[in-house]
Amino acid sequence: MTRFIFITGGVVSSLGKGLASAALASVLQTRGFKVRLRKLDPYLNVDPGTMSPYQHGEVYVTDDGAETDLDLGHYERFTGVPSRRSDNITTGRIYSNVIARERRGDYLGATVQVIPHVTDAIKEFIRSDLTDEDFVLCEIGGTVGDIESLPFLEAIRQLANELGRERTMFVHLTLLPYIPSAGELKTKPTQHSVKELLSVGIQPDLLLCRSDRPIPQGERRKIALFCNVREEAVIPALDVDTIYQVPVSYHEEGLDEQVCKHFGLHDTAPPDLRRWRKITERIRFPEGEVTIAVVGKYTSLLDSYKSLAEALHHGGIANNVKVNLDWLDSQIFETEGAIRALEDVHGILVPGGFGERGVSGKIAAVKFARERKIPYFGICFGMQMAVIEAARNLARLPKANSTEFGPCDEPVVGLMTEWLRGNQLVRRSGADDLGGTMRLGAYDCQLVQGTKVAEIYGGGIISERHRHRYEVNIDYRERLEAAGLIFSGLSPDGVLPEIVERADHPWFIGVQFHPELKSKPFDPHPLFTSFVKAAVQQSRLV
Ligand code: GLN
Repeated sequence: MTRFIFITGGVVSSLGKGLASAALASVLQTRGFKVRLRKLDPYLNVDPGTMSPYQHGEVYVTDDGAETDLDLGHYERFTGVPSRRSDNITTGRIYSNVIARERRGDYLGATVQVIPHVTDAIKEFIRSDLTDEDFVLCEIGGTVGDIESLPFLEAIRQLANELGRERTMFVHLTLLPYIPSAGELKTKPTQHSVKELLSVGIQPDLLLCRSDRPIPQGERRKIALFCNVREEAVIPALDVDTIYQVPVSYHEEGLDEQVCKHFGLHDTAPPDLRRWRKITERIRFPEGEVTIAVVGKYTSLLDSYKSLAEALHHGGIANNVKVNLDWLDSQIFETEGAIRALEDVHGILVPGGFGERGVSGKIAAVKFARERKIPYFGICFGMQMAVIEAARNLARLPKANSTEFGPCDEPVVGLMTEWLRGNQLVRRSGADDLGGTMRLGAYDCQLVQGTKVAEIYGGGIISERHRHRYEVNIDYRERLEAAGLIFSGLSPDGVLPEIVERADHPWFIGVQFHPELKSKPFDPHPLFTSFVKAAVQQSRLV
């Protein structure tokens, strides 16, 4: 029997609803339950793929090629359950489906309305594509009280009625702010937020209260009384020093016990949290540290590179070191002499990106890493930058560029117009829509034997997730290889370059895919483990 836990948030945004949901799911998993996590986003974009990273943070790509909310990254990292297209929905997609059905005539005769047509579509989504999960945790994006989230709240209210309270649970995440002049944690915003929920017919069963300090018993009692929740179901969610501490912390406050109690699951085994404790132990007591410069564009909003930051930390966990991240806007390297800021770092990484701004700074960073033999990791755009750098500076192609920035004489990186997905040919043209038309999701890549990546992966064929519109132009392979840039991974049909590396460098690898999306704390991605290891070696040299 699948049970549904709905997680809403109140008072303010950014309380960590995604992490809380992921952490709860991971603890339920350690109790032996099969879990699935879903995110319902209230905005009108069909998916976050067309949104600026400044607006929305990273776009997380699933194996099946969906561009989704970054919380799905937390879900996957915490539970190891691969996210699917069917795990993220937006108001935009719901409406576009409902309207498409209306045009087809599926509702012929009816007036199409938010209730029941939109709410039915939401409920249908919540219950779709499940495979015997014990728990489905559905996070509702946004904050209670937002106009946009109303249809979602209405849908989950209805679902709770249809399925019964023994199969559904409402968890509400709120904030208890500390007011220094009063010397107190304040419960009023939580009371208001719960009132807001009650006004749409939802009585929360459990409150997770974010706070920067312990919540006195008296305040818990007060919240319980005013919000009509059992006292043990008012769970303190205190700030922690690493996100991987969250499952253990919430467990110690009784979260999973209360969830089991709600569902009448009295005889389940206590969770085995040993591996979570081991991870936090490793994070807290590293044997050394390294500094990696991330030379990108969206460095002022770190959510833009969420999975990347996590993957680098996982590489640190694997090597028992702390990884300090130096986020640098590549534009600074367009100023004479500024590149020296990279002298003391132990690794340089150019992440994924779009558009021409800051490109020459990124290319300068690649050149610096190559010449100074500092470990270099280029991801997607970062690989394309490495290719342009080699073409311009080593293959005597000064006009080498990417057609992403306009027509050019030497298109070493060009628009991808067709590629194979399995046995199917996918075609694109420059006139296509921008939403959902990139090469997205998992594709196989054949590694070239005897190369560094073949050694790192320890295998011949790998599968990694992609999100790009341009590709390295295979026609330049010979000239680039003559310049020392080895094409060490290709699409199985040999047409799309997937990985480049240098043999004359301690660690210089560029990949067209996003390995960071598959890295997990318990299963660090081999490329990140290897890159951080190279950075550790570099740290012994400087
Ligand atoms: N802008 C490049 C492309 O579309 C790289 C994309 C990326 O880094 N994800 O190919």
